[in-house]
Order: sequence, then structure tokens, then C-alpha cells
Amino acid sequence: MVLNYPRRLSEEQELLINTVNELNNKFGEKYWSDIDIDHEYPEEFVKEFTKMGLFKVPVPEEYDGAGLGITDAPLILEEINAYGGNSQPFHGQYYMSWLISKFGTEDQKRRLFKDLGNGKIRMQSMGLTEPDAGSNTPKISTFAEKHGDKYIINGQKIFTSRIEQSDYILIVARTRKYENVTKKTDGISLFLLGPEERKNIEFNRIKTMFNSQTYQLFLKDVEVSSEQLIGEENKGFSYLMHVLDPERILIASESIGDMRWFIEKSSEYASNRIVFDRPIGQNQGVQFPIADMYAKMLSVASLRDVASNLYDNNGNIKKIGELANSAKYLASEYAWQAANVAMDTFGGYGVAVDTGIERKFREARLYKVAPIANNLVLSYLGHNVLNMPKSY
Ligand SMILES: Cc1cc2nc3c(=O)[nH]c(=O)nc-3n(C[C@H](O)[C@H](O)[C@H](O)COP(=O)(O)OP(=O)(O)OC[C@H]3O[C@@H](n4cnc5c(N)ncnc54)[C@H](O)[C@@H]3O)c2cc1C
Repeated sequence: MVLNYPRRLSEEQELLINTVNELNNKFGEKYWSDIDIDHEYPEEFVKEFTKMGLFKVPVPEEYDGAGLGITDAPLILEEINAYGGNSQPFHGQYYMSWLISKFGTEDQKRRLFKDLGNGKIRMQSMGLTEPDAGSNTPKISTFAEKHGDKYIINGQKIFTSRIEQSDYILIVARTRKYENVTKKTDGISLFLLGPEERKNIEFNRIKTMFNSQTYQLFLKDVEVSSEQLIGEENKGFSYLMHVLDPERILIASESIGDMRWFIEKSSEYASNRIVFDRPIGQNQGVQFPIADMYAKMLSVASLRDVASNLYDNNGNIKKIGELANSAKYLASEYAWQAANVAMDTFGGYGVAVDTGIERKFREARLYKVAPIANNLVLSYLGHNVLNMPKSY
């Protein structure tokens, strides 16, 4: 059983959800539990996902894609998580495709989109975070120095996900040093590195508490051609907003999916587990936290929908930022609460690997810190929306 909720879906969205649920039913929770044990990439799932055309979703129609936007695509990821899966290993290709369709050149689109849709290539890795900058993104120091029609990139990245599972990687680099710009976000450029340049990046996988493919990268004199620049030099930060806001909406959707899974598991278990000769869910101390999570799930799903609608209707980017960040913040906090409610409901069985609760508990924790730490979301709302003094 999977938990559903009242919402207005178009026929196209219903179809999308049914398609992804065929896949969910085919793989089942055991698949996700098995790959969790050895921290393996969900290769078989991603192959089927591709075969079913689900990577064509963000590809524009003129390149043989479905051309769907932020109101539709996140529903796919939500559904995968609601069935006990984990969309984190492949969600990157969605926001990267949107970035290329908005800011890529005609040549980049032609070269990439056909093969992204049919799975010949993957583009699901973005190296932004750096060890010495952390949440202070503009302070990145990876530098791309221009030499004629080439750039030479030097620097380090941390927590770049899926480099081994990507043919194309987005590297965010400075083309003007932090010390030499008046506005901190100026002087940042985006480069799409292909299979050739990828060979020149050294990387180490970082062991994490859940199944994730994330790496430390070392870029030493990596040469890229100016054709690999996305958009204009030095303006990359403004383009990044078109990756980061959709990414926040995708992440919020995955957390909403996680909540649905935790609520379903908790309510089912609470109705069936008999202690003191009655179901534990008859006790309001057990029942109310689960019902509370359901109400919170409905509220944040609505907020996510407002954010995605505004994005797809070319709303004001600042307002989208406000809504997308708030949706990511609330959904990740609520999903973490729901994970703890499930742990409490299951008593000792919550930590038993076979129930799956501990796996999803570990997975749900990530989105409180990535792709942006929740304190930084609150700072953003405090400074940029509520005009309170800046802490940095
Ligand atoms: C599994 C995983 C996958 C990831 N994948 C990617 C990826 O693919 N690409 C990529 O670029 N990055 C990725 N990241 C990085 C992620 O985006 C960062 O970890 C995150 O942005 C936080 O940065 P940090 O870890 O350096 O924390 P820090 O910036 O060191 O912050 C540590 C703590 O201090 C708090 N803090 C810092 N400054 C302030 C302040 N001014 N006010 C209040 N609190 C503050 C933060 O909230 C946080 O709780 C990934 C991370 C993980 C764990």
C-alpha cells in the first residue's frame, strides 16, 4: 500500500504517476534495501527509468523530449520515495537538463539532449561545494583561467555527487577572483566538462551513512574549450538560480514522498501491533504524532505546488526563491520529524534492518543539510525576505 492524498492532477500527470508506479511495483522496497547494504548505485532501476522515457521528461519537445516543467517532474521523484525508493542517485539529470535548455547553446542542446533521453549519456553531476567555502558559495576558489579559446581549471570540490555515473559534469568556477569583484556573486562561470576532461579529474569517493555516490574532486590544469562555457562568462551565478530553485523543489518533493512512506508504514504498524491487548495506535500518544505528520505533509505539498507553478509560469525569480527555499526547508524538517515518529511507533523494530525504517531514517536526514543547510534557508528568508540584519 502507498499513501495517497487529495490533489488536483492533470491527465498527463496521472499518466506520469502511473508510469513511474509500474517501475516502483516492479522493483519494490527490497531492491532499495539490498543496494543500501553495499552502497551500490541503482543501475538497474536507472536503466529501466531511462527505457520508460523518464529522462525525456525535462528535455524540450523540439529535441524529442516531453518538455515537462517543474510542476510535473517532481511528482515522479515524490512517487519513487513514497514507494520506499530513493531518487537522490539520479535527480541531478533533471535540473541539469533544465539548465541546458535555458542557457545552453543550440549546438550543446543538439549534441546532448538526444542521447540524454535515450540513456547513451548521463549528465547528473554538479561540482559547486568546496572544502574552504562550504555554505559561503561565492567564496569558491576553483579558478578557470582563459588562454585564447581555452580555459585551464584548477581547484578542489567536495561532495560532488555521481561523478562516476556521469559523462558530463557541471563545474562551477571563478573566472574573476573573489577579492577582485565588487559584488560577491560576480565573476562565477559554469563549465560543462565532457568525457575527455572527466578523465583528467582525480576523485575519491566519500563514505557516507546512507547509500550515496558522492566524491571529493581535484582539478589540476584541466583544459576545457570555450565552447563548454554555459552562457556568458562571469554571469554563472544568475544561471545557477535556475538550477538551485528547481533543485529545491525536487528535493522538497522527495521529502514529501519520504513523509508519505513514513506515515503509511507508521499508521499500518500502529493499527496492527498489539500491546496491552489493543493496537498501539489506539493510544493517542502514538496516533496523534502520525496524524500531525499527515496534516504537515498536505500543507507542504501545497506550498511546493505554489512554488512550482510560479516557476513554470515565469514568475519573479526572487519570489520563486522564497517559495522554493521555504518548501525545501519545511519538507526536509517534516520528513525528519516523520522519520522519528516512525522510529517511535516501531519501538525496537524501527532499528531492525528488515523493516526498512532505519534505512529511510538515514536517507531522510540528508536534506536538512544538502543541497543547502536549513540554517542558510532561514538566513535567506531573514535577510532577503524579511529585511532583517545580515549575519554574514
Ligand atoms: C551526500 C551529499 C551529497 C552532496 N551532493 C552535492 C553535489 O552534488 N554538489 C555540490 O556542489 N554539493 C553537494 N553537497 C554539499 C552540500 O550542498 C553541502 O554539504 C551543504 O551546502 C553545506 O555545506 P557544508 O557541508 O560545507 O557545511 P558548512 O557550510 O560548513 O556548515 C556547517 C553548519 O554550520 C551552519 N552554518 C554555516 N554558516 C552559517 C551561518 N552564517 N549562519 C547559521 N548557520 C551557519 C550550517 O547550517 C551547517 O549546519 C552534498 C552533500 C552531501 C552530504
